[in-house]
Amino acid sequence: MSQSLGEIVGQASESDAIASQMRSFYAELDQTIAAHAPVCTNRGACCQFGRYGHRLYVTSVELGYFVRGLRAQWRPPAGDDACPYQVGGMCTAREHRPMGCRVFFCDPNAQHWQNEEYERQLAALKRIGAEHDVEYRYVEWLSALSEIEENPGANLGISRDFKPVFEAPESVDPPRGFVLELTQVRQTDSHRQQGAAQHGGNVPSTRESHAD
Ligand code: SF4
Repeated sequence: MSQSLGEIVGQASESDAIASQMRSFYAELDQTIAAHAPVCTNRGACCQFGRYGHRLYVTSVELGYFVRGLRAQWRPPAGDDACPYQVGGMCTAREHRPMGCRVFFCDPNAQHWQNEEYERQLAALKRIGAEHDVEYRYVEWLSALSEIEENPGANLGISRDFKPVFEAPESVDPPRGFVLELTQVRQTDSHRQQGAAQHGGNVPSTRESHAD
């Protein structure tokens, strides 16, 4: 029988070996992205998915590493618009933020390398999961946070007592003149079909963002 997302994430979050590999993966990825020298000017607007018109998709091992690092500062999603970890235009989960958050930039000069980089990194994440027998899932970020919050069949040690010091502003307007091609970014047919199969036909459109 297939595991619930909570069970899969719980398994991934408990593994020291996966955590070590994910740290190396993100360190290498950050260096790769830095070499492209993309520019971030939107102050977290891209983390407000509904307003920005895109969605973030993540894999099982990213979720495991995220829960491992953020279980004591857990922020349940509120509504379906924005990432709960964006506060005042800043990411409060930078060390553990998913791959898509690191690869996506609204910088028009980043458009030519993002797709290819995303596909390469996604393949690497699949390999990490496979090495550790973690079932592969490719899931929409806010839905995944909600499912983890409900925690079906798994004890993830998430603290419900975290009281954020700051609260996010009601909105952050995207700057004018963005060239947004997010539904075209990194959404191959195979991912779409996989996402659809795993989400009852709710087809994902990949994205992600970067909030410096
Ligand atoms: S960068 Fe990613 S994890 Fe951080 S606030 Fe934005 S969407 Fe959330």
